[in-house]
Amino acid sequence: MMDMERVNAYMARVGAAQEQTFLPASGKLKVGLDLGTAYIVMVVLDEENNPVACEKQAASVLRDGVLIDYAGALQIVRALKEKLEKRIGRELEQCAIAMPAGTESSTRAHQYVAEGAGFEVTAVLDEPSAANAVYQIENGVVVDIGGGTTGLAILRDGKVCRIEDEPTGGTHLTLVLAGNYRIPFEEAESIKQDYARHKEIFPVVRPVIEKMAGIVNRYVDKTETETIYLCGGTCCLTGIEEVFQRETGIKTIKPADPFLVTPAGIAMNCKL
Ligand code: ATP
Repeated sequence: MMDMERVNAYMARVGAAQEQTFLPASGKLKVGLDLGTAYIVMVVLDEENNPVACEKQAASVLRDGVLIDYAGALQIVRALKEKLEKRIGRELEQCAIAMPAGTESSTRAHQYVAEGAGFEVTAVLDEPSAANAVYQIENGVVVDIGGGTTGLAILRDGKVCRIEDEPTGGTHLTLVLAGNYRIPFEEAESIKQDYARHKEIFPVVRPVIEKMAGIVNRYVDKTETETIYLCGGTCCLTGIEEVFQRETGIKTIKPADPFLVTPAGIAMNCKL
């Protein structure tokens, strides 16, 4: 079972590292770079995985998990790296990167962006497996719902035995909201991210969430799976876990703040 208290305490510290810079406990620094469909996030940890600093920026340089704007991505990654280096007062050298399962063909593109910004890429992972560095579950399924994709990693005895990814994510929820309310995408996006309005928008986005739960149903053996562990920005949506639980019949849990789990997990996997 996942130790929810530990995960929540750790993620609260990663969240706080967006505003505050924590003094690293020891020598080298680990960096996790998450080039996402909706956000580019960079997390810095010390050698003992204590959060040091974190920066993010909204971006549209990927579509369905595939990089479509190399120059734009490079510019943002450079800017985030510079900001973090200024905050920490040190140069960042090594980084780990991750991508949605099944888009391994774009590994190179992600790597070139990181290298172009001056990083040495020391580890390449898939997103849901990276998230499990934070969760540390032995058995169950990690479901990472980002902006453009829903990825899952099935774990047996601490080993990833299957990874899958499909191009449905938070962007689709926003599109459905924009269509229903007849408002621009940006406005729908800010309504969606407003916790005070989650209850009101839920019936509108529910069918898309059911579709996401259907992805899990397709790949997961219910007789063998006890728990679904959610992460990714889209899982901030209040009540999403209940739809997953109802649609799959599998107990579903998420931490208090699921947004930075994958970027933090990527950083944990950075080899020094
Ligand atoms: P991908 O992994 O698919 O390439 P990404 O890495 O950019 O995308 P995340 O950063 O995990 O994905 O999540 C981004 C998504 O989370 C966006 O669609 C955003 O609208 C959504 N999101 C962020 N905060 C909230 C919130 N409070 N409520 C609902 N959705 C949210």
